[in-house]
Amino acid sequence: MHKSVWTNYFHDLSPEEGIRLFAGKGWRLLELGNEQAADLLGRGEPETTAAEFLRFCDDLGVCLPQGHLKLRANIALPPGPERDAELNELKRWLDLFAALGITYGVLHPGVPHLGRQAAGADQTEPLSAQDVFGLNVDALGTLTEHAAGGPTTICLENGPNAAELLKLIEAVGAENLGICFDTGHLALTRERTPEKGQTDREFIRQAADRLRALHITDNDGSRDQHLLPFEGGKVDWPGVMRGLREVGYGGLFNFEIPGETGCPVEERLDKLDRAWEIADQLMALEE
Ligand SMILES: [Zn+2]
Repeated sequence: MHKSVWTNYFHDLSPEEGIRLFAGKGWRLLELGNEQAADLLGRGEPETTAAEFLRFCDDLGVCLPQGHLKLRANIALPPGPERDAELNELKRWLDLFAALGITYGVLHPGVPHLGRQAAGADQTEPLSAQDVFGLNVDALGTLTEHAAGGPTTICLENGPNAAELLKLIEAVGAENLGICFDTGHLALTRERTPEKGQTDREFIRQAADRLRALHITDNDGSRDQHLLPFEGGKVDWPGVMRGLREVGYGGLFNFEIPGETGCPVEERLDKLDRAWEIADQLMALEE
């Protein structure tokens, strides 16, 4: 496993300024955050922008094996122009990710609630769970086909438990579709819908070789606080590490910790050292 942080840790700096600070602290592997990816997409053609950005990262010895696809995307929008626009936009994100050589592109499965919001006034009946499933399968079919032959595997983030994600992945039937395990989301699922909950170790063992990416983050069960481990959260870290060892996970051990970023840059630089130590401690548990 390799230590990593998502780049929106330095949300108030340009992508380049942030990456320079990570490099200065010895962090060479990063997840490109949604916000930094959106910034790059706003600069023009994905290929040209990516080439320049990659040169910058190369010079600092930094690599971005993981990235977060559009955070508020909803791939379960009902058929219509809005859905077409959403999927076309995601294809552009995938083009950027491919040009950046990103191996794991994290995406949230679509949900009915956001779909109705995005569609404006809701004149229709809410979509059934089966409809939402079908719309997710259809969209993921389109997106995995678009990404096929390139470097990027789309990694679905939980929300749903591992069984629900695997059912979706199986229905799509694409090789370039995997799972991103968010430890904080699973802790909240356990708290809010105990019938769908599972332990971290169970989730990881069930995801097994479909597990390609991690969002390492903690909370106390009240809300998605996105804390570092051992800062007041309730995630069972020994269980997480045992599970990762059992399935032979060798990817990024990637912190997604917006709850730690509400302080000045200087303080955040110190916290990066703390994150490094915590990762070392956790990986030592794994041995
Ligand atoms: Zn996450």
